[in-house]
Amino acid sequence: MEETERRKILSAILDTTRECVLVADESFRISGWNEAARKAFSPNTSPEGRRISEIIRDLDLHEAFRRALVSGIESEIRLETAGGDRKFDVHVSPLLLSPSREAIAFFYETTRLDRLEVVRQEFLSNISHELRTPLTSILAFVETLEDGGIEDEGNNRRFLGVIRRNAERMNSLIADILELSQIEAGRVAVEPVAVDLHGLVSEIFTALGAKARSREVSLESAVDPAVRVFADTRRLEQMLVNLIDNAIKFDRTGGLVTVSHERRDGLDLISVSDTGEGILPEHLVRIFERFYRVDRARSREMGGTGLGLAIVKHLARLHNGDASVESTLGKGSTFRIELPAFEK
Ligand code: ADP
Repeated sequence: MEETERRKILSAILDTTRECVLVADESFRISGWNEAARKAFSPNTSPEGRRISEIIRDLDLHEAFRRALVSGIESEIRLETAGGDRKFDVHVSPLLLSPSREAIAFFYETTRLDRLEVVRQEFLSNISHELRTPLTSILAFVETLEDGGIEDEGNNRRFLGVIRRNAERMNSLIADILELSQIEAGRVAVEPVAVDLHGLVSEIFTALGAKARSREVSLESAVDPAVRVFADTRRLEQMLVNLIDNAIKFDRTGGLVTVSHERRDGLDLISVSDTGEGILPEHLVRIFERFYRVDRARSREMGGTGLGLAIVKHLARLHNGDASVESTLGKGSTFRIELPAFEK
């Protein structure tokens, strides 16, 4: 086969790969490339004939090409683009296509994997930290009981109470983590049906009534009894319980929590509003992240896990909807679930 023929075949094959591919000749000039590489490293001009170091300034890469071109040795390097925004594993090997030696580099992008790895590590370290806090408390109180506290009639029951509360915290934390990982692994299926929103909200108000009364918060539903939303009943209940429970927890004493519904542009918008302190804009943008809390100590004190809103967002998305928040400092916050409306 003619060399030009071989090059055509090589080039056609390389264009089908998503990985970036560059070929350099003995003078370190580019003699072949694919579309992915051109877009990534030389978006404005053709790479043809340019020096490798001109389009990617990286010593390790240059060295790897040198090893392949001069010594015929293949190698593997890590490459970060100048701004650090893209990362690659690069495999460079000698290429014997023409009488003179060339070298070919395959760039496997790892940007997304690297980012996921960071997220995974942060998540693990958050979990460990969150579990350690109640556990430390449990161990301290067990020790107190062992060191004579058990005989202390005036306090022993209180010590046990603290142990129980912390064990319950660990329990709900683990339940939330498992729930979240089930959703993220795609193991939770939603089965939407027409749900009587008014009825569902009334049931939730009954369940959370004692908590609301103890904080002197009133609950009000502005949902029309005729409204039907299209959702998985149990999952919608879970989202609303999370939002209404938060609204009660973070409302002021004597405040009001209102649930309302509106249909707009083919969407059912379900809002949960409170009359609490509101949330600063810098927190608002991150509030749906796992473990994100405005006031860690306060959330813990109220038995929060910092995962409730992350679960709400995930569940809303499973319904092809979304969850959002608006807030006015000093006036209160409104959390909203958007669901695609039921088409009749
Ligand atoms: P938590 O278990 O702490 O309630 P969430 O994920 O449900 O976890 O909420 C995360 C954080 O968002 C809370 O710790 C709190 O700081 C803030 N937050 C949630 N709902 C409200 C609300 N209605 N008003 C003010 N802050 C809220």
